[in-house]
Amino acid sequence: MTYRGRFAPSPTGPLHFGSLVSALASWLDARAHRGAWLLRVEDIDGPRTVPGSAQDILATLERFGMRTDEPPVWQSTRMARYSQALEQLKADGFVYPCGCTRKEIADSLLHAHARNTTLAYPGTCRNGLHGKPARAWRLRVPDGDAAVITFEDRWQGKQTQNLATEVGDFVLRRADDQWAYQLAVVVDDADAGITHIVRGADLMDSTARQIYLQQCLGVPTPRYLHVPVVTNEHGEKLSKQNGATALDCDKPLEALNAAATHLGLNLADGGASGSVHATLDDFYAAATAAWSKKMRLAV
Ligand code: GLU
Repeated sequence: MTYRGRFAPSPTGPLHFGSLVSALASWLDARAHRGAWLLRVEDIDGPRTVPGSAQDILATLERFGMRTDEPPVWQSTRMARYSQALEQLKADGFVYPCGCTRKEIADSLLHAHARNTTLAYPGTCRNGLHGKPARAWRLRVPDGDAAVITFEDRWQGKQTQNLATEVGDFVLRRADDQWAYQLAVVVDDADAGITHIVRGADLMDSTARQIYLQQCLGVPTPRYLHVPVVTNEHGEKLSKQNGATALDCDKPLEALNAAATHLGLNLADGGASGSVHATLDDFYAAATAAWSKKMRLAV
């Protein structure tokens, strides 16, 4: 197997400490496997994209010494591939058009909640639109035992999710004519031949959906590793939306050491140069050795 990993930032602001942790983890895992590390700019969510931030993120990664092995892929250039994938799913009968408005879904979920059943899209449009115009396309999730998706996360251990009771039929093409993250990420990772996905644990909840979608499209399922998310003093995930500050590009080693500490890496017993790293190369050598040890990788 040739290892191919990736970091897939959304250009919604400059790189912050939380996204640095995900970038570093995926970079170290690729290095520890002597594999390739790729970059994908997830710029298809028009309303959330901040002009210039993609270039800013790429420049920061470069400044921090994380170089990609292939030119970055921009999701905005790949719309035709997402259409093809949706057409394939239509032809194979995996998707259906949905005419529900947000309010209709919220109301029916409220009723379901009152009856103490689990929260999921109730499948209103599964058997037809009932005269409503099509707004979105949804993937039909399986019923019964087939709805249970299990995977072994390399950091978090065994994970199980019941797509029927915990998620419901999920959207691939949104009512606002945008591609849903779930479809784009699966198509892009498959086309890039990604073998290992390393990212923040906030995306763990999406993984079962992505695995099921891979099965519907007939593409391989990569290995997954979800690193603990960085939280602020209120216990919220650090994000551009809640004011995470941009990284100080003049002090990459400071930020990288803090990110390594967040990942529980003991750099003192990882590298020959001990815990003080004068250069980025020294830091990465020690951090890769510490990551390999922590992940029990034979390298
Ligand atoms: N673009 C997503 C984010 O920034 C990451 C997607 C992924 O790694 O699968 O949260």
